Amino acid sequence: MPPDTSTPPTDLQAALAESRQEAQDLRAELEETNRGVLALYAELDSQAEQLRQATDLKSRFLAYMSHEFRTPINSIRSITRLLLDRVDGPLTEEQERQVAFIQQNATEFAEMVDDLLDLAKVEAGRVEISPAWFEMVDLFSALRGMFKPVLTNAAVNLVFEEPQDVPKLYTDDRKLSQILRNFIANALKFTPKGEVRVGARFEGDGRVTFSVADTGIGIAPEFHASIFEDFQQVQSPLQKRLRGTGLGLSLSKKLATLLGGSVDLRSEPGKGSVFSVTIPVQLEGAKPE
Ligand code: ADP
Repeated sequence: MPPDTSTPPTDLQAALAESRQEAQDLRAELEETNRGVLALYAELDSQAEQLRQATDLKSRFLAYMSHEFRTPINSIRSITRLLLDRVDGPLTEEQERQVAFIQQNATEFAEMVDDLLDLAKVEAGRVEISPAWFEMVDLFSALRGMFKPVLTNAAVNLVFEEPQDVPKLYTDDRKLSQILRNFIANALKFTPKGEVRVGARFEGDGRVTFSVADTGIGIAPEFHASIFEDFQQVQSPLQKRLRGTGLGLSLSKKLATLLGGSVDLRSEPGKGSVFSVTIPVQLEGAKPE
């Protein structure tokens, strides 16, 4: 009988075999986890795609609906104007009150439709940004002219400060003007007396801050973040009575983002509010000619 050459496994060999097995188990486990992660990624991808499609559908629906609403609303507004101008004969006092009421509501409706259309366009990524060089003073004087006819409360002053050291801007002045118009219209709406002050400040780091400060009713801290969301309004008696669409600030925030900037709010109930928008002097990514 030949001598038995196979030696019994040493402790080292046993340990090696065991760790090989452990490595194999680990690899199998990792592979399984990997498959799980891949499956999760695929699910997330499909959910993201569904979400994108839903958002797209919502934006398209809003855009179509708002567009379709425009024609009938505008004809209601034109007819009320004709009636109030007595084109079709005299009106009794009560009829005049009622037609004026229809006109006011149709105007609010038209504003809401415009805001919805703008929001839908922003969400669908269909807003064109057209930057150009412009001077702050020109923007302020255009805004001053726009608000002059609607300043009906003699107890409130609308002041445009002389912009100090603000360089020429290269951005979309119409979008910036839309943001400031929203801020100013709100400030005038919620300020029974005192002033609404519009100013601009160069931040020194390539950005400019525009602010609209009012001495109005103010906003409680718990609403500071939510009023920049769609359809959010402050639940206080005065803010409810002066109802608007609740879309202006959310649109302003989205427009500010498109201009590479952000919006901000500081406010104290009973003392007033300061709404501001900070944007780069020169729109990022755009090449000024
Ligand atoms: P809207 O004014 O059409 O309701 P906005 O999105 O512009 O919608 O404003 C949302 C809400 O924020 C307003 O309804 C109001 O309650 C509050 N708000 C906005 N600006 C002011 C302000 N300057 N002072 C007090 N409340 C304000």
